[in-house]
Amino acid sequence: MRVTVFSTKPYDKAALNRANAASDCQLRFHSSRLSQDTLALADKADAVCVFVNDQLDAKVIAGLAERGVRLIALRCAGFNNVDLVEAGRRGIAVARVPAYSPHAVAEHTMALILALNRKITRAWNRVREGNFELDGLIGFDLHGKTAGIVGTGAIGVVLARILTGFGCRVLAHDLFDNPDCLELGVTYVPVAELLAQSHILSLHCPLTPGTRHLINADTIASMRQGAMLINTSRGALIDTAAAIEGLKSGRIGALGIDVYEEEGDLFFEDLSSQIIPDDVFARLLTFPNVLITGHQAFLTTEALDAIAQMTLANISAFSRSGAPLHPVTAGA
Ligand code: NAD
Repeated sequence: MRVTVFSTKPYDKAALNRANAASDCQLRFHSSRLSQDTLALADKADAVCVFVNDQLDAKVIAGLAERGVRLIALRCAGFNNVDLVEAGRRGIAVARVPAYSPHAVAEHTMALILALNRKITRAWNRVREGNFELDGLIGFDLHGKTAGIVGTGAIGVVLARILTGFGCRVLAHDLFDNPDCLELGVTYVPVAELLAQSHILSLHCPLTPGTRHLINADTIASMRQGAMLINTSRGALIDTAAAIEGLKSGRIGALGIDVYEEEGDLFFEDLSSQIIPDDVFARLLTFPNVLITGHQAFLTTEALDAIAQMTLANISAFSRSGAPLHPVTAGA
């Protein structure tokens, strides 16, 4: 299989080359994102290997089909950036890595919760300046607090276990009860009750038309006063403009995000010498109680190796049998 790898970072290349030692794919690495402008890089490829911010809309998929591409191999779990209906219509298979390290994402989520609560970045900045004043650094005990998890799949259940270990009461909302969560003592409640009761609210459901702007002006108004909101799932689960209003009113007491609805124009690039053109994102940066990381929750050695191995396994299975190990189809 000839595979064009888009959005390649040095760590992707290293992990994919390690995993490819056990298979015989011809990997062509490009740092560019897949879009209409970069379609030509997929010339003569049997498959494209893409990540979260590559653009696989109907026009790009049509361009891939014209070039004879037969497989889109996602190096991630989410597939909201792929027009699955168009891929199906064009006979292009889509594969994903459904689970690589739920621990990586759940642990990063916990890092955001702890850092925000105990104001670690503010404290470190002060100490570096020789300022050992503690005023403004007060946190709260996690023990005994209520944490709400929306989406208790692979990542949500690991977070539930971690939060239980901290002595939190864990509430959850999902389309289905996860028996592992029930065994942990997690209580499933309607989303309105979850919002009203949670001191900490963490989002772990996929981005779908039904979950887009799940957190909006109305749902923020029904959150517990001063609650901490965490999103390591997909940016558009939160209406960012509404979250900014929630931060200004104090309804949201702290916001930790690893994903942002317009991240495609920002994340994964070094823009430190440029002016950030996104005023909404720039406003978020001004709040002392907001902590943002640039979609790095997955970024552990274990997760990168697991992603690379499963991606190569998807491609090899497709090459052998015409079907990847973990296909995604419209309506899935
Ligand atoms: P998963 O499929 O195992 O679990 C998702 C859960 O959400 C399922 O239990 C599902 O039933 C539930 N769900 C679906 N629609 C829902 C709704 N409307 N309301 C409540 N629950 C709903 O997925 P996962 O591996 O746990 O990943 C969760 C999300 O995390 C992914 O969709 C992806 O977007 C994101 N993610 C982010 C990173 C990162 O680096 N920041 C890495 C991996 C995954």
